[in-house]
Amino acid sequence: MYDRILIPTDGSMAADKASLHAFNLAEKFDSELHVLYVVSRWIPPVFSNDVKIPGEVHLSQRTVEKLKSGEMPDDVETKEKLMRPTEKIADEGRERGIKVVQSVRAGKPNKEIIDYIRKYDVDMIVMGSHGKGSLDHMILGSTTDKVLKLAEIPVVVIDTYQS
Ligand code: ATP
Ligand code: MN
Repeated sequence: MYDRILIPTDGSMAADKASLHAFNLAEKFDSELHVLYVVSRWIPPVFSNDVKIPGEVHLSQRTVEKLKSGEMPDDVETKEKLMRPTEKIADEGRERGIKVVQSVRAGKPNKEIIDYIRKYDVDMIVMGSHGKGSLDHMILGSTTDKVLKLAEIPVVVIDTYQS
């Protein structure tokens, strides 16, 4: 019934919390679990690859183009960095015996999430009410707000501020 479930993650605690529900649902429905991270901020290495700012991902235009078309860069270090936000959820899912697909895209998170569900025929999204961005307690983060408006499939939103 729900063959493919998507858990989009920005590496936040909120997404981790949502993942527990995604695992339960994937087990229940014997679904494939897609874990997607969208890189939304990157620095083009215009001047030099040597100047590294901590916390920022340096991506060449070629790498960005690759990510947009669903491919991973060849460079092992960059690849590892890009996979990191999905790693914990993917590992936990696999430990539970769930079939996991790990993906990374580049662009606007809400747009990439919507493109992804259409491309891979995803049946359900499980995500956090908030992520890394907002410090204030708005009802919903902007990614979840937009995904709820645009997705034609069920979206399960896990409240970050309640247990
Ligand atoms: P805002 O981004 O509006 O400042 P926020 O970061 O607190 O606020 P959202 O971005 O809406 O809130 O995050 C809510 C959920 O959306 C996260 O728990 C996660 O499931 C998903 N999400 C957010 N950003 C990304 C991303 N870059 N890649 C994949 N999933 C994301
Ligand atoms: Mn955000």
